[in-house]
Amino acid sequence: MGANILIVEDEEPLTTLLRYNLEAEGYEVDAVARGDDADTRLKETTPDLIVLDWMLPGLSGIELCRRLRARPQTQTLPIIMLTARGEESERVRGLATGADDYIVKPFSVPELLARVRALLRRASPERVALVLTIGDLELDREKKRVSRAGRPVDLGPTEFRLLEYLMERPGRVFSRAQLLDGVWGSDVYIDERTVDVHVGRLRKALNRGHATDPIRTVRGTGYSLDDLFGKPGRKASHTMQKNEARGVADFGSGARENATDAMELAASKSLCEDADNINEDLTDVQGRQAVPRKC
Ligand code: CA
Repeated sequence: MGANILIVEDEEPLTTLLRYNLEAEGYEVDAVARGDDADTRLKETTPDLIVLDWMLPGLSGIELCRRLRARPQTQTLPIIMLTARGEESERVRGLATGADDYIVKPFSVPELLARVRALLRRASPERVALVLTIGDLELDREKKRVSRAGRPVDLGPTEFRLLEYLMERPGRVFSRAQLLDGVWGSDVYIDERTVDVHVGRLRKALNRGHATDPIRTVRGTGYSLDDLFGKPGRKASHTMQKNEARGVADFGSGARENATDAMELAASKSLCEDADNINEDLTDVQGRQAVPRKC
């Protein structure tokens, strides 16, 4: 079972977006919109991590954070603070109050997810698997080793991170921009074609002497680690070419996948800044008017 995460945030579209993306990562998500309600809730149950907004009705995020740190049962509870302000003094104040991490709006969802993962790994390392396995592929995060069918695969550091990122979310399709954000970091400017180069290298290293390619190219979208890779009943003649053809067929088939694509598209955009676009995307996906954003 995934870790429990409580979102304390009064901007409903942001809560919806965070909930969607955290649940897609396998977390159990709960949300409250008021600081005082969160305080009451946290006296009864303790989640594994809180995403806490600074400006809240009822009780401010800062005050709630201070109260949580004063109670023994929530003293070490991982807290990520969200705020619209990015000044260094605010950041220092947030961390001084006892937050473990601090993220400034607008932020990218992949960046928040990476911080959630890092914080959970630090707080409860047993929750995050050290060894990821899909099909005959095995990735050891601690030893930084990859093997396929029991034989070691030699990867550069970027290819290792890229494979780790894809293996953490099998089946999900990532755009080049999302991979740049998640693997290289959002503050680095790199041409999107760089992703193709590294995927090419990763494939070459993984597929040496093997008939099947675990990485799918989804034309017009990006890349994905095949979640059916290595599943019983899979034909051995499932080659790279067929894999790519299947990627094309997969893309756009079924309303749910379209919804996922649109939500991921929305997720990849900065919040607040692109609030209108996100709302349009959400409206398309859900077939109803999304709540207007206040930032
Ligand atoms: Ca707020």
